[in-house]
Amino acid sequence: MMNDPRFLRAGSIHASLSQHGTRVAVITAKDKLRRLLGHGVHQGICFSAEKAHEAQQAEHGIDNVNMLVGWDTPEVYSSQLSEFVLEAGLRVFERYQPALMYLSLTDYIQHKHAPGTAESDRFHQCLDQYFGAFDARGAIVGITADHGMNDKNNALGQPQIIYLSQLLSNWCGADKVRVILPITDPYVVHHGALGSFATVYLDPAVDAQQVVTQLQMVAGIEYVGTRDAACRLFELPPDRIGDVVVIGDHGTALGKSPEEHDLSLLVGGLRSHGGIAEQDVLFTLNRPLKAAYRQEVAAGLRNFDIFDFALNGVEGGA
Ligand SMILES: [Zn+2]
Repeated sequence: MMNDPRFLRAGSIHASLSQHGTRVAVITAKDKLRRLLGHGVHQGICFSAEKAHEAQQAEHGIDNVNMLVGWDTPEVYSSQLSEFVLEAGLRVFERYQPALMYLSLTDYIQHKHAPGTAESDRFHQCLDQYFGAFDARGAIVGITADHGMNDKNNALGQPQIIYLSQLLSNWCGADKVRVILPITDPYVVHHGALGSFATVYLDPAVDAQQVVTQLQMVAGIEYVGTRDAACRLFELPPDRIGDVVVIGDHGTALGKSPEEHDLSLLVGGLRSHGGIAEQDVLFTLNRPLKAAYRQEVAAGLRNFDIFDFALNGVEGGA
């Protein structure tokens, strides 16, 4: 689980800018991300909505966050967690005028409520109002996501899951496989630790290529490859990936074994991410692009390009 700065292998743009004297503010929904995204930020403001009430001047560059925002610290499983980030962002923007702000939301609502449902619409109208509020205050706003989201249910509306530990144990032997589901963290109420990406460590006696060949015949699996092949294709770090990578299709999630997932949490079915079907995300800026950046769009963008575009690529920017 990526929950500690010691796992980081690169600095961040906002940390680097802060070290060169730029006034930076980072606000995250969950505190685990605050520790990663705030790592290396110098003399900036950095806190999470989840632990807003714990923010201290010395460590977070700000205190009395709840008073500034006018809200109590929200529940972790709520739409208010993301809304708190945006409300706090607006207040920090007005009060401290940081040159660069990084606001990170949570996908709780997107997991629980499909597009077009009342709660989804309400949440997105709320986001839209905040984006408009930043725009009205003169901010250059860049909006992107780290993944999309799909329904992962069968025709009966129940989660469509391939239990990989169970399957591979039958093929290779129970103590020969270890399935890692990277979506797993302490917060699993909204997805039951079920996403569409898994990596599998195999006993050295097991032939990885053989496992790949067998998994390729399983319905619902969109991609399966060896470590080398998958790391080349998806730009992954080989030392952090198992012997085999497995990816479920747009409607299929990957689990370990039935007893390791509490499906009773998933009232109304499963919506999740991690697959190729969730790779396309929005990429939105509130200003016209400079000509050179307009040309780059045709070549294809990645979500992390939003930094370059927001900082350098828009009319009236830096
Ligand atoms: Zn998620």
